[in-house]
Amino acid sequence: MKTRTQALIDIADWKFDLCVIGGGATGSGCALDARLRGLNTVLLEAGDLAGATSSTSTKIVHGGVRYLEAAVKNLDPAQYRVVKRALQERIRMLRNAPHLSRTMEFLLPCYRWMDAAYYDIGLKMYDWVSGGASIFPSHFLSKEETLRRMPGLKRAHLVGSVAYADGQFDDARFNITLVESFAEAGGEALNYARVVGFEKDSSGRVIEAAVEDQLTGRKFAVRAAAFVNATGPFSDTVRALGTPEIAPRMRLSKGIHILLPLELMPGADALLIPKTEDGRVLFAIPWMGRLLVGTTEQEVGVHDELYVTKNEVDYVLHHLNQYLERPIGADRVVSGIAGARPLVSSGDSRDTKKLARDDELEIDSKSGLISIMGGKWTTYRAMAEDTIDAVQRQLCIPKTECLTKNHPLIGTEGYTADYWQVLVKEYGVSKDTARHLAEKFGTRGPRVLELAREIPALAEPLLDGSPLLRAEVTYCARNEMALTIEDVLFRRLGVQVYGWRDAIRTAPAVASILRAELGWSAQAEQHAIEQYVGKINRYLQLAGLSAETAANGATAQSAGGAN
Ligand SMILES: Cc1cc2nc3c(=O)[nH]c(=O)nc-3n(C[C@H](O)[C@H](O)[C@H](O)COP(=O)(O)OP(=O)(O)OC[C@H]3O[C@@H](n4cnc5c(N)ncnc54)[C@H](O)[C@@H]3O)c2cc1C
Repeated sequence: MKTRTQALIDIADWKFDLCVIGGGATGSGCALDARLRGLNTVLLEAGDLAGATSSTSTKIVHGGVRYLEAAVKNLDPAQYRVVKRALQERIRMLRNAPHLSRTMEFLLPCYRWMDAAYYDIGLKMYDWVSGGASIFPSHFLSKEETLRRMPGLKRAHLVGSVAYADGQFDDARFNITLVESFAEAGGEALNYARVVGFEKDSSGRVIEAAVEDQLTGRKFAVRAAAFVNATGPFSDTVRALGTPEIAPRMRLSKGIHILLPLELMPGADALLIPKTEDGRVLFAIPWMGRLLVGTTEQEVGVHDELYVTKNEVDYVLHHLNQYLERPIGADRVVSGIAGARPLVSSGDSRDTKKLARDDELEIDSKSGLISIMGGKWTTYRAMAEDTIDAVQRQLCIPKTECLTKNHPLIGTEGYTADYWQVLVKEYGVSKDTARHLAEKFGTRGPRVLELAREIPALAEPLLDGSPLLRAEVTYCARNEMALTIEDVLFRRLGVQVYGWRDAIRTAPAVASILRAELGWSAQAEQHAIEQYVGKINRYLQLAGLSAETAANGATAQSAGGAN
């Protein structure tokens, strides 16, 4: 991707065929689809790419076992269609970005034979709905086999488990890779660029977006023949910019995850807890060397700050511990993530967990603004296909074939599961570094390592003992529009998810590289560190954990890539 400075020059005050607002999964998917169909497209993101919901998911590529259960129980064909479509998309996501996604087996432990029969039938149905898009069939595991694969499970009364397959992916990097793929195809993308208003022609149709550069406050215009609003939880705000009197449609449901050391529940499989006390499902999933556990559901407002609270930590652990032989204490939590599901209200449902994760495409007859609302990460591509079909109809141009079904994202060309060995062989890096680079950058890994070859200081670890290299930060600043410590540590390298304390310790090293790359002053560097450390310490405290200072000299854990 070009630098942000260059992108700003190429975007501000120019005219495009299509302007996509929102750089999450949905907007990035729309931008890529439009560009591949030949539309001159610009993508504008108010914060960082993947900066909102799309980096806070459970990271499962799935049809949704729970939604299938609801479809059957309520004889609801709408829920059934959501599951069916997502299952078809699941296989495409796995195929188009193999370095960022993988299949995973989920074990559903059963403590009564009746439950085993119920879940076995339910998951056979999940297999059946996936049809030709199936990964592999679900099957029953004996008690012994279940405990061999998940030794930490509570043993008393366990009769076995039902195992089924779904996908798992790196949500934040998948999102960034989508934008990079869009840019590679000739699209223009800009982060920290908020749409704050629209200019309309005499008939009331939107012809221009007023955009505010969030770094400088400077305002500029972007003209386009069509505008897509893909702002997830913020959809109503942007819809109201188009037509102020429009009725709101979004219901936001906060969900959190906590991360724990993987050794607390060793194994390669994920655990599905079928029913919490408030009727939800809970997952405990190995992810990037940690155990990701969640999630929760609580209705929130669009302006609510999202963070993990101590009560939420206790809630998640309370339910997980009911399934474990040795309970896990809250002091073992290493980090957390909070996000808001952008659900489209169906009118009367009071309970957000009953709202189907379906999407809705709206074309505002007054302003012409096309809003794509709701949906799931797994269905981002299908949502984008429907949206760009609508854009072509609105522009009165012939509908062309959607090309994203079989469009490998960048970093996948020549990628195989043992690709990391190429990096070890050709660049002499450690196995952990090679695995981490292959997982995050795919076959773009050598570009990072070439930087390290050119400038030996960049071949140093980001922190003593860490497999991450300083070159990764330079690469992210130069090629992935990373502008802040959090852009690097949360969304691009995953250290903040691996551990809040690891992130605090790594922040000064990241800041010094960003200073060199972005031309910060010493004061700006110091300010960036203080802001970041302050924010993460606040997260620690809100989650009921003790704060950490940046300069305590503690040895860093290796971040990411250790699995
Ligand atoms: C807890 C949780 C768990 C989930 N788990 C899964 C899962 O396992 N699998 C799955 O498939 N789905 C999952 N989802 C759902 C999935 O994450 C979301 O459906 C998806 O990420 C929504 O993407 P989006 O692009 O619509 O929204 P977002 O990612 O929120 O992107 C919208 C973007 O628009 C930007 N924006 C807002 N206003 C403006 C403006 N005025 N100008 C410019 N930009 C603007 C925002 O900054 C934001 O980046 C989960 C969601 C949550 C919250």
